[in-house]
This record gives sequence, structure tokens and C-alpha cells, in this order.
Amino acid sequence: MIDSDYHLETIATRFDATGEGETDAGDVVSPIHLTTTHEMHSPGHSDHGYKYTRFGNPTRDVLETRLAQLCGAEFAVTAASGTAAMAAICLSVIDGGDHVVAFDGIYGGTRVLFEDLLVDSLDATVEYVDATDTNAVEAAVTDETALIWMESPTNPLLQLCDLSAIAELASAVDATYVVDNTFATPYFQRPLEHGADAVVHSTTKYLNGHSDSMGGAVVTDNQAIAEAVTHTQAYDLGGTLAPFDCYLTLRGLRTFPLRMDRHETNAAEIATYLDDHPAVVQVNYPGLRVS
Ligand SMILES: *Cc1c(COP(=O)(O)O)cnc(C)c1O
Repeated sequence: MIDSDYHLETIATRFDATGEGETDAGDVVSPIHLTTTHEMHSPGHSDHGYKYTRFGNPTRDVLETRLAQLCGAEFAVTAASGTAAMAAICLSVIDGGDHVVAFDGIYGGTRVLFEDLLVDSLDATVEYVDATDTNAVEAAVTDETALIWMESPTNPLLQLCDLSAIAELASAVDATYVVDNTFATPYFQRPLEHGADAVVHSTTKYLNGHSDSMGGAVVTDNQAIAEAVTHTQAYDLGGTLAPFDCYLTLRGLRTFPLRMDRHETNAAEIATYLDDHPAVVQVNYPGLRVS
């Protein structure tokens, strides 16, 4: 876990927070490296480390470093969508026939992915539990469990689960513990600090925040997971994030902390208004319970 000297707000805006991607011209915005192929002095070898954009691209490297720093993590691996990032980590950690425990409130698209990829293609078993109750997770986890997948708050019902308590269940059986942090974002919550092995994000949502780019990322402190996801992304799925989308996401991230602050204020106001409204039966907003 990286302990940055910078506040989240500073990391989100600083081009040179990473020292990477600096140019001779002193750009304060990372250039968009649209090249597919990089010059090599002999086949497969170059001094700058880049060969072909599916394997690595300077604009993508700046974004991945920025995302890792925002999450207080060592590594970030981007993907062409949140779904692509989820597929990459699933294929990296799951073998045929494995047992998976997942929150039953997860994003609908994640459930489709699990059913198509894990259950139908890999013959895995996925047990969906009401993870708002940690005991339900405990009852489902066995020594055979390879992956525990949580999301908190969930999309769309904003259900919560106890990330730290579930981390203990995962480590007791040596299962990989993944948390989809798309809705909370690192502004409000850092699951790696609560014991997650890896975190997935759809950057399409709050991180980019401008509804003009699809993207996703896996962030982790675990080098083996980072390398496996990088390999799966580059060689097996091929769904790496395009340089232009890396630029758009970096641009979106500049205002990310400000936007999250405003989202929180606005959402609390709307939730409180609806909660007091006589025609409204139920409001799903976790902030109401603590306010
Ligand atoms: C949108 C979303 C995803 C999928 O991301 P895409 O970028 O649409 O592929 C995954 N998890 C959650 C919680 C989401 O909201």
C-alpha cells in the first residue's frame, strides 16, 4: 500500500505527481499517444520499454499510476470497460469448478458475467448471499471457496456489507477477496485498507464522471494478481483501454474529488426530502441511517 504525501485532491489534478509521462515540452496534460506501434531497435526490443499499444502505452501508464495513487494502491490495470476489468480478474483467479461466494445485490451486469463466464464456461459454482448479514457470508464460505466478490454500496439498491469482517472470512480460507468499489469510489472508501485483495472499478461512472468514456480498472497491492490481470488483458481478452479514453479519464479525474463532494451533498438533500415525503414508501440511501 502506498502512503502518499499528497491529498487525494492533489493527486487527482497533478500531472507530475507520478513523474511519468513527462515530456521535453513540459506539458501539464499528458499527451495522447495514439501510436499502435513503438520504434524498436531490434524485433521485440526498445530502450523506452514500449512495443505495441495492446501491451503498454505511455498515456495508459499515466492513468494507471494516477488510479493506483488515488486508491492508495501499488498497481492499477485498466480495461476497456468495468465489465472487461471484471472479466480479466475473474479469468485470472478462477479455475474450472471453483467455488465463488458473491453478494446477491451486485450489479446486474456482474451477475450476467458470472453466469456466462464462471458458471456456463468454467463450470464454477457461484453462491449468492445476502451479504448485508455477515453471518450469511460465513455460512456460505468453505475451504473450497476460491473467490469472494462483494460490492458496497451496491448498484442500484445501495446495500452495504461489512468489508473488514468479510476480509477475515476470506483470509481464513485463503480465498481471493474482490470488492467492486464503483459506487463508493476511493473518495469515500478504500477497500484495500479493509483487507480486499483487489478492487474493481467501472471508471465509466464517477471516476471519469463526464459520460463520455467507457473504462474499468483492477487495483491491487498484490503483484501476482496485477501481473495475472495484465497478462489476461493484453494477451487473452485484448480489451485494453484506448489511449484517447485514457486521456478522457485523466481529464475527468481532475475534478473527481469536487464532483464527489457535490454528489454527496445533493444526494443527501434529495434523500432527506423524499424520506419526509408522505407519498414515498421507502428510500434506499445509506446516509439517511447515520444522519
Ligand atoms: C457500471 C458498473 C459496472 C460495469 O461497468 P461498465 O463500465 O459498464 O462495463 C460494474 N459494477 C458496477 C457497480 C457498475 O455500476
